[in-house]
Amino acid sequence: MNPFELSPLRQLSTEDEAELVAQHDTDIQQMLPLLGPLFGLGVILFNLWDYWVDPAHALTALAVRVGLVLAGSIAYQHTRLPWSAVQRWGYIYWTHSSAIIVSQFVLKDGFLHGLTGIAVCVFTLSVVALRVRTFLLILSVPSLLFAALGASRMPAFNFFNSMTLYLLSVGLACILMLVIRSFRIKTFSSEKELLRISRHDSLTGAFNRGYLTELAEREVALAVRHGRALAVAMLDIDHFKRINDTYGHDTGDEVIRRLVKTCSGNLREIDHFGRIGGEEFACVLPETGAAEALVCAERLRRSVEAIRIETSQGQLQFTISVGVAVLDVTHADWNALLKEADNALYRAKRAGRNRVVLATPEPVIAPRVIRPVPPTKN
Ligand code: GH3
Ligand code: MG
Ligand code: MG
Repeated sequence: MNPFELSPLRQLSTEDEAELVAQHDTDIQQMLPLLGPLFGLGVILFNLWDYWVDPAHALTALAVRVGLVLAGSIAYQHTRLPWSAVQRWGYIYWTHSSAIIVSQFVLKDGFLHGLTGIAVCVFTLSVVALRVRTFLLILSVPSLLFAALGASRMPAFNFFNSMTLYLLSVGLACILMLVIRSFRIKTFSSEKELLRISRHDSLTGAFNRGYLTELAEREVALAVRHGRALAVAMLDIDHFKRINDTYGHDTGDEVIRRLVKTCSGNLREIDHFGRIGGEEFACVLPETGAAEALVCAERLRRSVEAIRIETSQGQLQFTISVGVAVLDVTHADWNALLKEADNALYRAKRAGRNRVVLATPEPVIAPRVIRPVPPTKN
């Protein structure tokens, strides 16, 4: 594939587009406190050019420049107004480019000399806008202003010439914006794909151990903080080695995939399911006490038992053993809770497999109650 392939109109899904826009807005928000003042300073400093072009009206032009830049400067920093960073840049662009256009209007032959500055400003939008609609919306007010003031001031030929050059810049800036958008989409998609790969198991698509641990640690912290219940169910396929040896590794892989599909379909949206080892899996069950966790684990066990896989050696059926543990004060962290579920799983295996066992919590040493000493009577 050609790395420079231009796919500016490549469509993202609605959610991805929203995520890209949000990410872009955060980037622009970080740049605004620097880019905004730089733009404003540039607009004011170009007053030196006004002195060169038309010293008689340069002071009026300066007043216009400073006034409009000051009006736009309220958007340099984050305010309480509910506008996005791109909308803030739109407002800065309206005021600052209008400052250039109006200041050129007050100068003699200003438009002829200031056209370059007016056209160059358009290219800032190539970086800031992400969509053609946004690009055109931000550009609309200054362009209409330029057209109206230009038409009233310039002879027809000069006006036509200036508008042609201006529209040429707009066209080029728009193409540049689409090229930048295309690169942004490529980067965004690659980052998303990398994140997906780093979080999911390649065989089954379930969360991998690292990401499941990350989610589980967050859930444990939330459960402890809000005093909510949390359970974990650890699953292991029974005699899986035998399945591999009898039916082959490919069928073994299919068994793992079907197990993941079945378990994922039998859990709630808020539960997290991941592969933590070869044929071992864990379910993090937020807001779930012992009784509910046992019901859930039993449902998983039955669903897996009901799976039938057709192989060249006939129909294959398999089972799982499940260890369940519920978070309480004895658990220092997620690892301690998982360890307890693992112990319960070991007991399920020892007890004959294809069953669910609830972990017996470690005995808690009751804190010594210190009673206040009653005051002695004199
Ligand atoms: P138990 O009932 O005690 O759990 O016995 P078991 O045979 O399931 O357990 P054991 O740990 O002895 O064997 C697990 C096997 O899982 C060994 C390993 O080759 C196999 N395995 C691990 N990962 C994969 C995989 O991704 N695909 C396949 N097909 N097999 C795998
Ligand atoms: Mg096993
Ligand atoms: Mg195992």
